[in-house]
Amino acid sequence: LSKKTSFRRAFSISSHRLQSCMSAWVIDQYGTHAVLRYTEDITTPAVSSPTDVHVKVYATSLNPLDLAMRGGYGAKLLKLRRDPFSLGDSSAFPLVLGRDVSGVVVDCGSKVAHFAPGDEVWAAVPPWKQGSLAEFITLSEYEVSHKPQSVSHTEAASIPYVANTALSALVNAGGLCAETAPNKRVLITGASGGVGTFSIQLLKAWGAHVTVTCSQNAEGLVRGLGVDEVVDYTAGDVHEQLQAMDRFDMILDNVGGETEQWALDLLKPWSGSKYVTLVSPLLSSTDHSGLLSGSIQAGCTLHNKALQNMLSSGVFYRWGFYAPDGPALDEVRTLVDSGKILPVVEAEFPFTQVPQAFLKLEQGHARGKTVVRVT
Ligand code: NDP
Repeated sequence: LSKKTSFRRAFSISSHRLQSCMSAWVIDQYGTHAVLRYTEDITTPAVSSPTDVHVKVYATSLNPLDLAMRGGYGAKLLKLRRDPFSLGDSSAFPLVLGRDVSGVVVDCGSKVAHFAPGDEVWAAVPPWKQGSLAEFITLSEYEVSHKPQSVSHTEAASIPYVANTALSALVNAGGLCAETAPNKRVLITGASGGVGTFSIQLLKAWGAHVTVTCSQNAEGLVRGLGVDEVVDYTAGDVHEQLQAMDRFDMILDNVGGETEQWALDLLKPWSGSKYVTLVSPLLSSTDHSGLLSGSIQAGCTLHNKALQNMLSSGVFYRWGFYAPDGPALDEVRTLVDSGKILPVVEAEFPFTQVPQAFLKLEQGHARGKTVVRVT
């Protein structure tokens, strides 16, 4: 309690600001680059539930989802998640993007047990909540975790969203964990970006054998993270190169599209092997066909592909999704603080240059993460 009181005194300016407005980058409509707007006049989110944790944002990072959401991707499903019974203000705007946060707790709800003002924390912000391209953010206690001590806020902000995504895909959909992964052969496609560079390190920390596909100029990066075998997808037929190797226990597909037409026959047949793609049509399907029809279409697609692959070769076909999970980030913290997982920050921008950070993201060819320093 005394820690809370002294922190509140020390941060009396922040407390004052909690009642008023904060600065943030927002969009007021879906669109392209021009819709990004800086404001100092957006209402500061407050602790509104006993399990809320109110955080001053020190750094955030961008993900492909930010670009997609800027253009309206997932708007229908996210609106439903935000306001299931259409009780509140149904407008998504002004919408704050940004899915990662590393920062310091400034206030907590009455039932928050694991955090106190002054704690350094990190989190991945669910897409249905206001994002972290802002001075402050309010999250549920269950989404937040104590930040690793050994890295800066800027470095820490590069990890949570890709970590929660990779863990959800590898553990929940892929059935791997520290106990089951040793010596498993895993293929990661699109390994040079945010999810890939994190997944490589997690799987190597667990003792798996990791093969990746990436461009030739990313080979040094992925080898430095511990990859066992690299296939340059720009040098000839990638499927042919991978077919020459032993078959895999799991594929984590970060590329999607045509990849799934050739990747599944690289898996060991009839031995519980799994293909997990992060590029699923669920949200785009609901965007185009409406919530009910789009969900049914996506469900049928998943069901048909899963059945077809199970019947033909006994492999599991699954879709992977980001899932908010503070306790999972606790495990990642241990791996970061023990040096087994390194942040991979490709570019860093100040808060004033968020549009430039988006331009960097739009160029593609990520080699790790693009981070924004907020404070
Ligand atoms: P990034 O943009 O950070 O990385 C993508 C990487 O893939 C880049 O390094 C790119 O480099 C490489 N790449 C592109 N084309 C190919 C190819 N044909 N073969 C091999 N590598 C390729 O994305 P993230 O890592 O953050 O995310 C990966 C994917 O997962 C994205 O599509 C994202 O939208 C999705 N995702 C889905 C989530 C979910 O909940 N379903 C959550 C998070 C991410 P280069 O072009 O130079 O080769």
